[in-house]
Amino acid sequence: MSRIRGSGTRPELALAEALGGTVPYVLNARVDGVRSDLVLEASHTAVFIDGCFWHGCPDHYVRPKSNTDFWAQKLAENVERDRRQTLDLEARGWRVVRLWEHDVFERPTAAAAAVLGAEDALPTPDVRVIRVEVVSEAPLVERRVLATLRSGVLVGDQVGPRVTAKWRRPSLATSPRPSQSTPK
Ligand SMILES: [Zn+2]
Repeated sequence: MSRIRGSGTRPELALAEALGGTVPYVLNARVDGVRSDLVLEASHTAVFIDGCFWHGCPDHYVRPKSNTDFWAQKLAENVERDRRQTLDLEARGWRVVRLWEHDVFERPTAAAAAVLGAEDALPTPDVRVIRVEVVSEAPLVERRVLATLRSGVLVGDQVGPRVTAKWRRPSLATSPRPSQSTPK
């Protein structure tokens, strides 16, 4: 293992704990120039744990109500970078597993199974919100546009009231606050 900072609330450590010593791994390693959260060299697997807000989680992306153009562009850029990194690494022979941060904490056993090769261990690993449009202001109705990560195929619109179901990483009273505050 490489650096371990902060506390057990860090998602890569939660995932490592769920893997439970079944396979050797390296945390926070670069693979072909891309920083990955966890790497299994034996199976040539690069694992990314995507934060629900920054990467467009279908369950937890919340459209900010101010600076909307900035945040819309940020989401589009992040999704595009995720796609490019994933396809680049796969073209170089890596197996890429992208996990939602909420799955790592809420379903650690399933997340570990996905890392170890269970294709359908998790519900929506490859689908993300690519943009959110305002359909009407009063009452506030949004259209959430979902697409697959790798192919960018649109998989649906969800039209309804503004989604506010943010997911927050668990915090432990005895642990220092995670030092990380920038997008992953
Ligand atoms: Zn989520």
